[in-house]
Amino acid sequence: MNLPEQGRGWHRVLRVVCPGSFDPVTNGHFDIIGRAAGLYDEVTVAVLINEAKHSLFTVDERVEMLREVTSGYGNVRIDRFHGLLVDFCATNGITAVIKGLRAVSDFEYEMQMAQMNYRMAKVETLFMTTNPLYSFLSSSLVKEIAGYGGDISGLVPEAVLARLRDRLSEK
Ligand code: ADP
Repeated sequence: MNLPEQGRGWHRVLRVVCPGSFDPVTNGHFDIIGRAAGLYDEVTVAVLINEAKHSLFTVDERVEMLREVTSGYGNVRIDRFHGLLVDFCATNGITAVIKGLRAVSDFEYEMQMAQMNYRMAKVETLFMTTNPLYSFLSSSLVKEIAGYGGDISGLVPEAVLARLRDRLSEK
């Protein structure tokens, strides 16, 4: 088959997005972001602005923590979005969504979203299996355990650990 675009030095920039609440970013998120950064040209981590959902950290704080944690990656940028993810993708020239899959329980909802996003705007979704070290890890569980004084070191980046301690001690 003739593939005329190949062999001409033509290169398509592969931009992907890792969307989520990141309240706060955990080592599970960080693992997925780092692996995506190794595979694609540009990775945008997009924090969902959801006024209806009660959160521990403001969107600004979540963005700040993500920036701090991912500063070592030259091809990762942090942004925020509200409304439809496919609209954010169109505005930013992003062709695919990266999602981490922890367990079968994640799959049903994620598949529905993936198919809807493709149906709406031909945005692809690529699933990455979680690092088994973090398959049990979620932001909500981390907050719950930290709230009861449990040890969450090793589950969130150091910078997040300090902020979580501060925030919970304010309560
Ligand atoms: P949401 O509010 O959509 O649940 P989160 O901020 O909790 O968002 O997570 C964002 C995305 O990060 C999830 O959809 C999932 O793809 C991925 N993720 C979260 N935790 C993990 C983990 N421990 N391992 C792999 N992927 C994860």
